Amino acid sequence: SQLPLFLKGQVVNGFGRGSKDLGCPTANFPREVAQSLPKDLKTGVYYGWAKVDSGPVYKMVVNIGWCPFYQNKELSVETHVIHNFDEDFYGSILKICVLGYLRPEKNFPSLNNLISAIKQDIEDAKQNLDIKENIIFRDHDFFKN
Ligand code: ADP
Ligand code: MG
Repeated sequence: SQLPLFLKGQVVNGFGRGSKDLGCPTANFPREVAQSLPKDLKTGVYYGWAKVDSGPVYKMVVNIGWCPFYQNKELSVETHVIHNFDEDFYGSILKICVLGYLRPEKNFPSLNNLISAIKQDIEDAKQNLDIKENIIFRDHDFFKN
């Protein structure tokens, strides 16, 4: 199958969709990283592990979706690292290991619905990552400095 997926790239500016205002900043990869994904990958929300520069490996949720900015012809990969960082890390090297699928992309009727869905995604990711089949990837060679 297509998972796990290992992705690495510099954190670039996103599309200013205000993820941070929703309490859920998403670090964007450059287009090349999204273009390297399997063409038939299901879009939606996935979970896995993430590392910024030489920092610790944290849990994450990542939205892999069609990007309206490019007329929905290109995928965007936006990672929310489940950790409170003191500062932004634009320009840093982000590594992610994508392990499992949570749900398809959806249009939410309201902002509150969207925020609840994100909170639920984060809870689901945390739980899934605590099982040993997923924990082992936290220590994968991919994350070694
Ligand atoms: P953009 O549209 O530029 O992606 P966001 O509102 O989505 O803006 O914020 C993303 C930025 O926030 C990231 O590029 C990163 O520098 C910073 N950031 C801070 N904390 C986190 C976090 N926990 N997960 C992801 N990005 C974070
Ligand atoms: Mg973003």
